[in-house]
Amino acid sequence: MGDSQQSRPMAQYQGLSITSGKVTGPACLFSAEHHRAVEEISVADHDIPAEIGRFDKALQACSQELETIAMNVANNVGMAEGEIFLTQKHIMNDGTIVQQIRSGIAQGKKNAESVIVRVFSAYENKFSSMDDQYLRERATDIGEIRRRLLDNIRETKPRFLCEGQAHCLRGSNRIIVAHELTADMMVHMNFEKVRGIVTEHGGISSHAAIIARSLGIPAISGARDIMSFVKCGDAVLLDGDSGTVYLNPPQSLIARVIPPQSKAQSDLVCALESPAGMELCANASSIEDVRQACQFHADGIGLFRTEILFLKADRLLDEEEQLAYYSQVVAALPGKTITFRLLDVGGDKPLPFLRLKKERNPYLGWRGARFLLGSPDIFTAQIRPLIRLSKKSKIRILFPMVVDAPQQQLLNKAVREIIVSENGASDNIELGAMFEVPSACLQAAKIFEFVDFGSIGSNDLIQYLFAVDRTNEQVSADYDPDHPVLWGMLASLVDAANSAHKNLSICGEMAGREGMPAKLLDIGIKSLSVSPRLVPQVRKEMVEYAVKMGDGLMD
Ligand code: PEP
Ligand code: MG
Repeated sequence: MGDSQQSRPMAQYQGLSITSGKVTGPACLFSAEHHRAVEEISVADHDIPAEIGRFDKALQACSQELETIAMNVANNVGMAEGEIFLTQKHIMNDGTIVQQIRSGIAQGKKNAESVIVRVFSAYENKFSSMDDQYLRERATDIGEIRRRLLDNIRETKPRFLCEGQAHCLRGSNRIIVAHELTADMMVHMNFEKVRGIVTEHGGISSHAAIIARSLGIPAISGARDIMSFVKCGDAVLLDGDSGTVYLNPPQSLIARVIPPQSKAQSDLVCALESPAGMELCANASSIEDVRQACQFHADGIGLFRTEILFLKADRLLDEEEQLAYYSQVVAALPGKTITFRLLDVGGDKPLPFLRLKKERNPYLGWRGARFLLGSPDIFTAQIRPLIRLSKKSKIRILFPMVVDAPQQQLLNKAVREIIVSENGASDNIELGAMFEVPSACLQAAKIFEFVDFGSIGSNDLIQYLFAVDRTNEQVSADYDPDHPVLWGMLASLVDAANSAHKNLSICGEMAGREGMPAKLLDIGIKSLSVSPRLVPQVRKEMVEYAVKMGDGLMD
């Protein structure tokens, strides 16, 4: 934290975790908005064609620019992320908008810049006040398009606020702090060098959040009013696990939040195999995660969150697209167990493009297994490629948010019908239930009669067991993975799995918390699935546990 300003007071902000991970570094302020003062200038009749020409030229140049960005992002980050920019190109070239701008110049006799601002701002305001979350988030895209056109016409660029200061390296080795991070700003950064991201606004499903997550950069959003306090170069401590950000923290706090031994997970020498009788898999939501899991010698993928692929693409993926992606995942970890969780839609993971009816209680609403059973087309389009894949490789299919045994039977029946219609066989497919709803846990013995394996989703289980919103920082004190009531429920799940001779694993975040693996192993949960970057640390704890057991120290 070379250039931290000693005299600045400490401040703490609570936001929402976008990407986990803990980092520290100097702040770098980033702003995209430098067109606040766009003057309205009258244009003489004979200059109108030239003014329209200025707009047309900018439109053409920006369209080309967006295509190039889309291609680069598709190559370097992912296809789905690339599509964000193609969508922006389509919006920008929308016939009605283009016509409104041209006639605003011609009939209003005003300069192109002021008409662009007027037309796009009207759409932005309209969209940002809509109830539909999907449409609300499109307001960000419209704002980006407006800025891009103005940048082009005025030959300006988005900038870091601290640009020009001697020590500013435009985000290099720094923590970016911004009102909101747009997908476009993300593209302008040198990500390899950015240590972390903090924003005041931007939801968990915003494009920037999705890109930050897929690049694994620790990130927090919703740190309200931080921009009015933070100064360029302020020391920042970002705890992406809890969603907390500290400005100008004392060294003692940094040492507590980032203990020296956990600073470089990836530097740990990772044992190549899990101890006998134990399994350590990784959670993944992208091919990059799977590759990282492979690099750290994970035993397989315990949870592949397929909904994130759809979230990134911002649309439904068809069967062929899904098959291509799932095949890549299997190919990246040959011979290992891969667990594909079916679309887990709803609650903290809405798929805005589905335009589902607004619910008063989305966490208790049309989600998980309920949604799958009620959406046969989407369900079939996801099961079919998995069946096709299973003709070549063994795979596991995991059902999210299962509520009880009858619902599990309905899910099985739906899968069996598709297998029959596909002339497939089920030998290479194992079916599993997520245990993350208390009612399913209380009926675990019955559910195990119908599935091959179970996976504990402790993130949601804690939420529903203690009636505590997993994304609300205000109630986080009640979100307690150490609570004896939870451990009682975990123990009863172990009993049910053992009696049924079925495999039980845990894929919630708590499995990767320091000290937790030994506790889980102690109660008989021998299969853990954690973020890829936590694999070395958790494997180390497993090996230590096995050694102690071998030495008879843990009787
Ligand atoms: C969980 O609920 O613990 C889980 C692993 O799934 P997600 O976090 O995706 O809801
Ligand atoms: Mg869950």
